[in-house]
Amino acid sequence: MGGAACGMLRPMPEGDTVWRAARHIRDALAGRVLTRSDFRVPRFAVTDLAGRSVTEAVPRGKHLLIRTDDGLTVHTHLKMEGRWRITPASGRLRESYRIRVILANAEWRAVGYQLGIVEVLPTAQEDRVTGHLGPDLLGPDWDQAEAVRRLRADPERSAAEALLDQRNLAGIGNVYKSEVLFLRGIRPWRPVGKIHDVDALVSLSHRMLDANKDRVNRVTTGDQRSGHGTWVYGRRDRPCRRCGTRIRCAELGDRITYWCPSCQPD
Ligand SMILES: [Zn+2]
Repeated sequence: MGGAACGMLRPMPEGDTVWRAARHIRDALAGRVLTRSDFRVPRFAVTDLAGRSVTEAVPRGKHLLIRTDDGLTVHTHLKMEGRWRITPASGRLRESYRIRVILANAEWRAVGYQLGIVEVLPTAQEDRVTGHLGPDLLGPDWDQAEAVRRLRADPERSAAEALLDQRNLAGIGNVYKSEVLFLRGIRPWRPVGKIHDVDALVSLSHRMLDANKDRVNRVTTGDQRSGHGTWVYGRRDRPCRRCGTRIRCAELGDRITYWCPSCQPD
């Protein structure tokens, strides 16, 4: 328990990160004609979207869908290290082996770095890549009852793993998982069937992502100061902000989870 991975920390993309990226891409590209596209993934190396108009950029959980007026969708996923950068098209582009896709119009250039997924597919077939997702925490069609129903459908599963499973609800990553479980006093290993109030857990997750969707620095404590933003995530061996107990860290499934043994007794 608590191997080297526990010490490794970088801000991970979660639903709020993708929501913000989609908004910036929409502002830069939507309603304008692409003058350049450059896919640096083997499967789409010769795909050229120049001349098409972007109609919208839609976040779905941790997936991002950029649609064009002729029925194509650029589907991307940030995975662990991906990010998007929007810059004026007139500026010089700094080349990097990390670039996976470039979409530009006369004014703006959107560059996707280290994206875990980049593919182009017919918009009509988006279901193929996002159809498995549970209710989207930041989606206009957010459905809390359905998210609760899906979580409860597998009562033996640990709370931590169930929250990360995007088929239950879409948008939660490792940080929110650790933080909501702390705030609800639920040990990460507790089976979903033994959680008293799954509704409250889901509703808190929704509020937390929603409150952070416009913020660059994710904060779950309400404290914007650097290093004060989380209750337990990234705080291995530090004193719990609530009770002073040493925060623990361990791998659960294949992900790191943080918890306070006193505030999350079982
Ligand atoms: Zn505590």
